[in-house]
Amino acid sequence: MKRLDAPPYASINLYDESVAGLGDELLKKKFLHNRPTVVEAYGRFDESSQTKTWCDLPRAAHGNPEAIVLGSLLKGELVSLYDEGVVKSKGKPRNMYDQIKLGAHDECPYCGGMGEMGEVGELGTADHFLPKAYFPTYAVLPLNLVPACQVCNKGMGGSFPTDENSQPLHPYLDEDHFFLEKWTSASVRNEDPLVVDFEVKSPASWPEKDRQRVTAHFKACKLEARYRSRAWTELTPLISQRKSTLRIFSSEQFREHLLVIANEPNLPINGWKRTLYSALAASQWFCEADFA
Ligand SMILES: [Zn+2]
Repeated sequence: MKRLDAPPYASINLYDESVAGLGDELLKKKFLHNRPTVVEAYGRFDESSQTKTWCDLPRAAHGNPEAIVLGSLLKGELVSLYDEGVVKSKGKPRNMYDQIKLGAHDECPYCGGMGEMGEVGELGTADHFLPKAYFPTYAVLPLNLVPACQVCNKGMGGSFPTDENSQPLHPYLDEDHFFLEKWTSASVRNEDPLVVDFEVKSPASWPEKDRQRVTAHFKACKLEARYRSRAWTELTPLISQRKSTLRIFSSEQFREHLLVIANEPNLPINGWKRTLYSALAASQWFCEADFA
């Protein structure tokens, strides 16, 4: 839910660099021989990106590394070009891979920066938008590599929906309105302890496909539960501030204070923080509550 700039590489760059780094000359020849077929397949990915229907691209069967999936290339060869030729490379392919991960600026684009990208000093994980287990053709396509937190990476899992309405959002390639318009909402439950519920509320003007896609994305990334639990840890210090330093604020001033936080320009529009603070500011009960 955070737009990312596409990696600054031509589609075939990472393929070329990882093939160039192969020690096995026969295998290298085979990859070079199949290059035109790979370029064609990457062209089909670009066409799918126009219509946002990646789910229709040809799938390989689960397992079966010996299956021929593209030209004369085996599934296992393509997957290992990524595992060995990119991730374990010590040269240019690995640098490109790290550069792709750095593009997230430490915030996972799928959840809008909820999840840990890795330990301090680490670069986190890269998710194959189209999983390499089913789409080995795109294992080293830069546009198919998206930096992601561990939770989203796991949540998306090794599968990809066959129904176009269930496809997750693509941070480089998807429609602008997913990243610029509000489609998450929250409501404050006047209960003790306080509970904030999060849900999807997409604009009625959107095509049905896009409305279904944000719902599917919200679910795949487990955002309802993750937002709720994040809200919980945010509310405890906020309420204790309201009881102490913010006590001098009238309910109207407190609402203003919440709105300033909600509207911090760097926050993703559908991220947990903006959604939470907008809901708190909109709750008359919360703004007027005497937490003493
Ligand atoms: Zn995430």
